[in-house]
Amino acid sequence: MQDKQGQYNSAARIVKILRNGGFEAFFAGGWVRDRVMGAPSPSDIDIATSAAPDDIRRLFGRTVGVGEQFGVMIVLEGGIPFEVATFRADVGIGDGRHPESVVYTDAENDALRRDFTINGMFYDPVTDEVIDYVGGRDGINARIIKAIGDPEQRVREDYLRMLRAVRFAVRFNFSIEERTLNAIRENAHRINAISPERVYAEMCKMLVGPNPHTGMELLRDTDLLKHILPEAENLCGVEQPAQFHPEGDVFVHTVKALSLMPENPSLPLAWATLLHDIGKPATKTFTDRIRFNNHNVVGAKMSVNVLKRLRAPNALTDAVAAMVENHMNFINVSKMRLSTLKKFLSRETIRDELELHRMDCSASHGDLENYRFVKEKLSGFKAEQIKPKPFVTGRDLIELGLTPGPIFGRILDAVYDLQLEEKVASREEALAALRGMIDR
Ligand code: ATP
Ligand code: MG
Repeated sequence: MQDKQGQYNSAARIVKILRNGGFEAFFAGGWVRDRVMGAPSPSDIDIATSAAPDDIRRLFGRTVGVGEQFGVMIVLEGGIPFEVATFRADVGIGDGRHPESVVYTDAENDALRRDFTINGMFYDPVTDEVIDYVGGRDGINARIIKAIGDPEQRVREDYLRMLRAVRFAVRFNFSIEERTLNAIRENAHRINAISPERVYAEMCKMLVGPNPHTGMELLRDTDLLKHILPEAENLCGVEQPAQFHPEGDVFVHTVKALSLMPENPSLPLAWATLLHDIGKPATKTFTDRIRFNNHNVVGAKMSVNVLKRLRAPNALTDAVAAMVENHMNFINVSKMRLSTLKKFLSRETIRDELELHRMDCSASHGDLENYRFVKEKLSGFKAEQIKPKPFVTGRDLIELGLTPGPIFGRILDAVYDLQLEEKVASREEALAALRGMIDR
């Protein structure tokens, strides 16, 4: 993590250099909001200035023109990259996705093109003053997320703002101001005009931040959920057997599980918690009682579809699918053979899965016996005990005169199982066991 004081000093230096060059310059956006709120860990510092990209390039040694056509430059100061953006107004916005072009303008108009009042303030590091053209301080005091200007118009300019409103409301435990909320409800069905990558990025930020559970509820209440994740919306009203799930339907359970998220969860854990029971509506049957046979396997496939649709990275999708598919196996851990248990524990996602299992149980029946069992095993076994280097390899089979083929893997697995079961304790014992198998 960047040292915050170092970040502040470097950003303040950028402001001074711009001022000395005859331009206006301020800190802008999230950092100012967080400072006014007294947030413990403020956002990165972004800088807004009247200097145009060419001026910025001239004044600073190291710059990168990341979004130069929109007036956005990266300036490296003290080894830290800062976004330095020219005061701008977006023009020609019509498709609800991105501006056609921008015009350079003054600080006040730059504040007016920002999304929510709390995000529209500037800060002057030279005078230690907050410059507030948009009622950002009022918004913070009233704990509301309020669009700057006409909410309907602001949402129509960029539909992503709907998701951003929800994300900020959840992050700060603010409410969404009524007209802004109405504009979101009216336009919720248009959220898919936004690229899936951007929707995915917003969802990720929300899921790993504070209160992911209220995020799900607010997405449902704003009607965004049914357009972004209809599979999750479909969990609403799906009843469960009361003896295992006294908390209520599958959506209520999922929300409750999300409320038990550890701090700073991994992305796969956050997504897997959201998606772990996504297969339940499709697998619901009533025999002796309500059952959801195979919902983990169906859910894993559905998770892959959801995450592919959102263009999530493959590694995340694979990890989430593994976690969803395995989440029911914790029921069997105390009865597993030692080799099966070790294979279960040696999988890459096991630590996150254990956390998911804890949330799943605590959000329903509350029985944590299997959680404690796995936790103890994981800390009791040494790494090389769970996943030891095989005593015997394919080369040994060849030296024993066997011809390589598909059967090789089966033989090696059998010897490896003996090793995991701790029935052979050395290479010699493993080779002896192998010879025994072949001679038979
Ligand atoms: P975070 O702490 O999550 O980074 P942030 O407020 O800094 O919060 P950014 O996405 O980094 O959010 O954007 C920086 C600033 O740019 C915002 O504070 C806001 O003023 C403006 N902004 C960002 N996205 C939009 C948007 N879609 N529409 C209008 N203004 C936006
Ligand atoms: Mg930011």
